[in-house]
Formats: sequence, C-alpha cells, structure tokens
Amino acid sequence: MKLPSFEYFGATTIEEACSLLHKLKGNGKILGGGTALVNYLRHRVVVPRAVISISRIRELDYVRYEETTGLTIGACASIESLVRNPTVAEKYPGLYSAAKGIGVPAVRNIGTVGGNLCLDTRCIYFNQSRFWREAHMPCFKRGGSLCHAHPSNKGCQAVYQGDLAPVLMALGAQARIASLGGQRVVEFSDFFSGEGKIPNRLRFDEILIEIKLPSTGCDQKSAYRKLRIREAIDFPLAGIGVAIKTEGQRQFVKSVRIFAGALGPAPVELIRTEEVLIEKSVDEEVLQEAVEQAYLEIEPGKTVVDNLCMPMYYRRRMIKVLLRRAIEDALSLRPSKDAA
Ligand SMILES: Cc1cc2nc3c(=O)[nH]c(=O)nc-3n(C[C@H](O)[C@H](O)[C@H](O)COP(=O)(O)OP(=O)(O)OC[C@H]3O[C@@H](n4cnc5c(N)ncnc54)[C@H](O)[C@@H]3O)c2cc1C
Repeated sequence: MKLPSFEYFGATTIEEACSLLHKLKGNGKILGGGTALVNYLRHRVVVPRAVISISRIRELDYVRYEETTGLTIGACASIESLVRNPTVAEKYPGLYSAAKGIGVPAVRNIGTVGGNLCLDTRCIYFNQSRFWREAHMPCFKRGGSLCHAHPSNKGCQAVYQGDLAPVLMALGAQARIASLGGQRVVEFSDFFSGEGKIPNRLRFDEILIEIKLPSTGCDQKSAYRKLRIREAIDFPLAGIGVAIKTEGQRQFVKSVRIFAGALGPAPVELIRTEEVLIEKSVDEEVLQEAVEQAYLEIEPGKTVVDNLCMPMYYRRRMIKVLLRRAIEDALSLRPSKDAA
C-alpha cells in the first residue's frame, strides 16, 4: 500500500522539531523509528501534512544510570538498547523483560522507547484498511459517536498496547516533555489520557524527550509478563508490570505497585490488589488472594473490552496467571523466564 504524500523534515535539534510542530499547528507527526507510524500512514489512520523525523537528534539517544539520579532514557534510544544495557537487566529486570518481549529484533533495533510510549491505541474495528473502515459507521476514533466494540460505551475504548508503560509506571517513571515554550515533567499517570481516541495528553506542539526512573534500592525487584498469541512479533493482549520491595527471608512486602496493560485505553493500577499484598509475607495463600482480587478488579466491559483478537473473558482470566508469574519472577519464587 502506497504512502500518502506529505512533507518530510529531518530535525537535528529538539528546538527545530518543536518549532516545526508549532508552525504546523497540529498537522505534523513525529517520526521516531517509524515501525508503527509508517503503518498508520499506509492505512490512512493518520494523514498529516508533514512528518518530522527526530531520529537524527543525537541528544535524544542515550540510556544512562547514576546511583543518585537513577535511570534516564532518551526518547530516541532504541528498544534494543534497553535489552543490551547490563544495568537495565540488573537493576530494572521488569523493564528488561518488557523490552525483550517487544516484536522481533528488527522492530526493537529501529523502534524507539519514545515511539513505544506514544503508540496510538488499537482496536479490531479501527485497525483495518481504509476501505473497510469507510464501509462502517464512523466510531468515536473516526470522529463519530459510537463504539463498535461496546455499543453502550460513551467513549472510545481502543486499547493502548505498548509493553513498556505498565512496568515503567510500576517503577514510578516520569516523562520529560519539550515544546517551544520550555520543558515539563509529568508522572505517566498524567501522561496517558485514559481515552482511546487520543491516548496521551501531549499537546500538538509537544515531544516526549526523556523517561526518568528513580534509583532502585537493593531491595526493589520488578517483573513484566505479557499474553500474546505467538512467542514473538505479537503485541500484548494483556500485560502485568510489578515493582515490589520486600524485606527478610519471608518476603515481607514494604511497597508494591502493579499496573495492568493492554486491557483498555491506558495502563491501570490494580490498587486493591496492592492492598492485599502490602505488609504481608508472600506465601501461597497471599498470592492466591492477590490474583483473585486482580481478577475482580478487572471489570468486563469497563477495564477490559472485547476489541482485540482474543475474547475479553480470556484476557481477564489470564491476568491471574500473569500476575502470579510476575510476582514469582520478581521475588525469585521460581526460576525466571523471559517475557512469555
Ligand atoms: C511487527 C511488529 C511487532 C510489534 N510488536 C510490538 C510489541 O510486541 N509490543 C509493543 O509494545 N509494540 C510493538 N510494536 C509497535 C512498535 O513497533 C513499537 O512499539 C515501537 O517501539 C514504536 O517505536 P517507533 O520509534 O518505531 O515509533 P513510530 O512509529 O516512529 O511512532 C509511533 C507513534 O508515536 C509518535 N512518536 C514517536 N516518537 C515520539 C516522541 N518522542 N514524542 C511524541 N510522539 C512520538 C509518532 O508520531 C507515532 O504516532 C510492533 C510493531 C511491529 C511492526
């Protein structure tokens, strides 16, 4: 399928990219690695007047760790650079696991961390050819006023399927955002809108430039597990990111954050499940109670919607399995395996 025509700009500085976005007044699209955007363009999911590549902005391509400040990741760092970074594997094993489970090596080498976090939402009723889309009544994402997946929904329920966000959010990551007017730093819970139609709160003239993760103490562990049809290539159909701090041999939980991804328009924190685990020693009984609570917390038609290639009831049930495995991985309760 041919690309639509558009103007192309190769920005070499953050200021240049921001200035172009500003001038284009919402008609410009940022291009990271292009592994997702090129498909959106081919299928006319987006038809911008101009595409601004940021892949030549050297100052956006880094992964750095300092004991005092933690991990900082430039938006143009490739996904593979996370997989190859020994500090990420050692100190943020959940992030390593999420990165390693993305697509295939070719996608990870070209796809950027920023692009992954700014992915558009997907839905089987929307991610179709233009011909198919236009044969149906426009849904919310196409500017209409209905949701084909769940007609009683009052808004778009397309799913954000990025793998990195749930575990980054569990680890307490922040996003640094640039525009012509300056920079701002936000929590990822404020970065995502929770709306399928436009999944993040970036303004039309803003670029995600950096992801910041706090330093991990030696007692912090993390893990990520995803559900997908094949062992490679596939986007998550559900995912669980866990960051947990424990003390003592009986794994007494001092703090825990759990985010479920690929269920709805943004990763969701499983707060009531965290409450089951906090200030308890993780044994089989507590683990079972936590996974049952997670199942209850994922409400069909609300937290999880039937709009991907696997039924929502199955995806909901699999949250129990993913959570159990993620906690077991994090606390080394069984031999760790890369994202499965
Ligand atoms: C075969 C295949 C398998 C895949 N499997 C997975 C998977 O398992 N898990 C997964 O999470 N993803 C998967 N992906 C999706 C995607 O390739 C990756 O998420 C990748 O990281 C996207 O990065 P990119 O740099 O290529 O983004 P691009 O395609 O360049 O951009 C994606 C979107 O983000 C915007 N954008 C990019 N960078 C920025 C920025 N810095 N600031 C603001 N907006 C920005 C673009 O305008 C565009 O809307 C897969 C893709 C393919 C083709």
